[in-house]
Amino acid sequence: VEDQLRQFQKMEAVGQLTGGIAHDFNNLLTIITGNMDIASRALDTEEGAARAKRAMGNAMKGAERAAALTQRLLAFARRQPLSPKPLDLDKVVSGMSDLLNRSLGELVKLEIVTSPGLWPVEADPNQMENALINLAVNARDAMPSGGTLTIETANAHLDGDYSSAHTEVPPGNYVVLSVSDTGVGMPKENLARVFEPFFTTKEIGRGTGLGLSQVYGFVKQSGGHVNVYSEEGDGTTVKMYLPRFAGALAEEDAVEVGRIEGRS
Ligand code: ADP
Repeated sequence: VEDQLRQFQKMEAVGQLTGGIAHDFNNLLTIITGNMDIASRALDTEEGAARAKRAMGNAMKGAERAAALTQRLLAFARRQPLSPKPLDLDKVVSGMSDLLNRSLGELVKLEIVTSPGLWPVEADPNQMENALINLAVNARDAMPSGGTLTIETANAHLDGDYSSAHTEVPPGNYVVLSVSDTGVGMPKENLARVFEPFFTTKEIGRGTGLGLSQVYGFVKQSGGHVNVYSEEGDGTTVKMYLPRFAGALAEEDAVEVGRIEGRS
């Protein structure tokens, strides 16, 4: 019975994903065909050239957004299997500062707060990098007129005292990676849904709703936990708790990142 239930839940999830894609795609196709129609009609009249050009430009934009959507879906579908390595997250974050600054754009300031004596963690460096870029892009989108993104690390020994801020994380030793923005924040009903694949409040073709799902999947597969705190008008904090790696950290393990260029 449990297997059947799991199978049912999977089918339902796949159904939801497919529905989400179909919906976004349909909207983009409407933009494309609608504008093509306008363009071809405009060409029938003498002074229609400028109008036709504009409509064709809009159709092109729609097609480009559709292509970007499929790209991101493909990237999501063929995610590499995780190959975890011992990592020093302070080195990972510092090594990514150029890449992160590029993702954040001109208006958003990046602040990195490292933590001397930070414990190592064991995680896939590429997925870690992806997760941070996703969070940076979300932060940029939440701060259209500028602000600050703060990335901070800390060791945390959780003893099961949940009066502290570490809600619902099982006791243990963790490295906490906090990513905070000073952006628009989000209402409670959105906050409850942020890890849902395809949940997005962004314009069609801009957001896929897969960013935080990726972060969630990555952290869970790394044996960790992730919490999101947000206040409307105040900003958002994503806290990743990654289990402390008990082994030693080899010198060359720490610098495996910063290789993915030119994404936004
Ligand atoms: P996407 O960014 O493609 O929409 P995500 O899964 O990364 O997908 O985010 C889902 C939604 O959560 C966003 O559309 C947005 O409404 C909300 N969100 C995520 N990060 C933030 C943030 N830093 N500030 C405000 N809202 C956010």
